[in-house]
Order: sequence, then C-alpha cells, then structure tokens
Amino acid sequence: PRLANQIAAGEVVERPASVVKELVENAIDAGSTRIEVELESGGARLIRVRDDGSGIAEDDLPLALSRHATSKIASLEDLEGVASLGFRGEALASISSVSRLELVANVEDDPRSGWRVVAEGRQMEPRVSPAPHPRGTSVTVRDLFFNTPARRKFLRTEKTEYGHVEEAFRRLALSRYDIGWVLRHNQKTVHQLSAGDDAARRERRIAALLGKGFLDNALHLDLEAGGLRLWGWVGLPTHSRAQADQQYFFVNGRVVRDRLVAHAIRQAYRDVLFHGRHPVFVLYLEVDPAVVDVNVHPTKHEVRFRDGRLVHDFLFSSLHRALAEARPGGQDD
Ligand code: ADP
Ligand code: MG
Repeated sequence: PRLANQIAAGEVVERPASVVKELVENAIDAGSTRIEVELESGGARLIRVRDDGSGIAEDDLPLALSRHATSKIASLEDLEGVASLGFRGEALASISSVSRLELVANVEDDPRSGWRVVAEGRQMEPRVSPAPHPRGTSVTVRDLFFNTPARRKFLRTEKTEYGHVEEAFRRLALSRYDIGWVLRHNQKTVHQLSAGDDAARRERRIAALLGKGFLDNALHLDLEAGGLRLWGWVGLPTHSRAQADQQYFFVNGRVVRDRLVAHAIRQAYRDVLFHGRHPVFVLYLEVDPAVVDVNVHPTKHEVRFRDGRLVHDFLFSSLHRALAEARPGGQDD
C-alpha cells in the first residue's frame, strides 16, 4: 500500500503548489470562511494550511489520512452534481506518503479542545493525541519528498516553487471572494485579502493579486443569456504591458483551462481588432451544473460541456459585444 500511495502521489503531488491546491480545496469543501497558507522555503521545508471550517472529529482523523476511505462519492450518480472540489479521497494519503504530515483539528467551538495525528511517509502514529485548536483544521506538511530523493531533486529553486504556489493561491483566491485569505512566505505576509462579495472588495482583490494596472485597462462585463452568465474583466489592448499569463477562466467557481473557451475568447479579440494581442482576463462562467462535466480529469482543470457549441457561441458573442462597445470609436467600422 505504501508503494501504491507513493505512485498515486506522483499524480496528485508534483510540487509544493499541488499540495497547497489540494489542502486549500479541502478547506473550501469544509465550509471555511478564512484560509491561511504559510510556506517556508518555497514550500519544500514547510506548507501549512489553516482554516476555520468544520474541523475533523477525533475518530475521523486517522481515516482522513487513509486512502479512499473518505471519498465523498458514494455512487456514480453523485458524480453528476458533485459540488465539492475533492472526490477521490486520496490527497491527504498521497501527501503524507511523501512528507511529514501533521493534522490538527477541532469540531467544537471550544478552542481548548482539538486532536492531532501525525504521519511520516505513511507511518502513522497509532493514536491521536489532544491538541488545542480553534474550530477548524490545520495541516502542516514538512520536508516534502524527504523519502523520495529522486522526486525531491526535481524541485526547482525556492523562487520558482514559490512562484507556482503563488499562482495556485491566486487562482484559488479568485475563485472565492466570500472567503478571506492570507498567504505568508518565510514569515512575511504576501497577501491578506478580506472576504466580501461586493464590487469594491472584488476589485481590491483583483488589484492585489494581478497588479493595479490590470483594472485600469480592463473592461467589466456581466452578461446573461439562455441560462448562461458571463461576468468578470477583460483587458483592453491599451493594456500594453499586460502579462501574457493573466488568463483566468472559472466555470462554476473552478478554474478551467479549456480549448473551446480559449478559442472563443481569441476569436472575439481577433474579430474586434486586437490583432496579435494576448488576451488577458478574469472571467466567470456560470452554468447549470447539469450541463457541464467538471470531472474529466482528476486535477479538474478541464471541463466538458454538454453543448459546446452553445457555450462557445455565448462566450464569443458576449465578449465580442463588450469589446466592440469599449473600442475607441464605438461599434461601427
Ligand atoms: P477528498 O477531499 O477527496 O475526500 P482528501 O484526502 O483530500 O480526500 O481528504 C480526506 C478527507 O479528510 C476529506 O474527505 C474530509 O473528510 C477530511 N478533510 C481533509 N481536509 C479537511 C479540512 N481542511 N477540513 C475538514 N475536513 C477535512
Ligand atoms: Mg481533497
């Protein structure tokens, strides 16, 4: 089982950023309103995710670390409307097989209660021990790949690994405005984002994560048709120093990289006039969960729409309209 876990870990756990993603998704699933991510040495030495979610009960703590034992999918039908981000029930097991993992959680409102369990390369302590913790969960992952030297060697410099973590953090924080976020690296607070779904706080978050220039040259849009809603910001071509990688597309709150989506956006830009410009955007597509399958790939950056044509045309025409209206000189020419 140890080997199987480590092989599986290769798929889920590629680098510190993938650990952060899995831990934060669990925190989101637990209904947290505040999530703190703390790193040392780009995450290679330490990754800690603290949340104020449901916590994990004493009896469930060891289970949370065992593979497949806790999969949230009870039946095939559940896959249809899966609302939670995690469904394979193996992230914690995989991570703990290649690190020194500590899980501390409390389901009570009393901050004096709480329980702790540790695992080191799959060697789990037989018992959980008392450990006070505010309601919620903290997962600490130390010395990632300490027992898989070949994998450890694949880690890049601290700066590079940190960059990947920050990018993962950006996507997660952009996916949930109703959650407050903190990112700390080597004892320094890099991001502190207060929760709030109002326009002002959303824009403050965008500016904090993507730079102040992003909004100055971006167009806000919010369009709805045929049960589809598209809202967010698209960068205009005057945005000359736009970073080519500022492309964020969310479908029902999950970040998605999709060819159909990319194509529709590129087409709209090209059509309106922005030749050779790299589109930059933070866009949210909201659709009925029944018409989209988000579980095409385990890491779930892909989606499959029941009616791809409909989605493509909606994206294209919405963006086309918004961009054409914003273009200097208006709609005609
Ligand atoms: P999955 O998320 O696919 O179920 P994981 O290995 O990521 O599998 O997590 C195992 C289980 O541990 C979860 O199903 C959940 O019950 C529990 N768990 C993990 N992290 C948290 C957390 N931050 N808060 C509450 N429960 C958690
Ligand atoms: Mg999970």
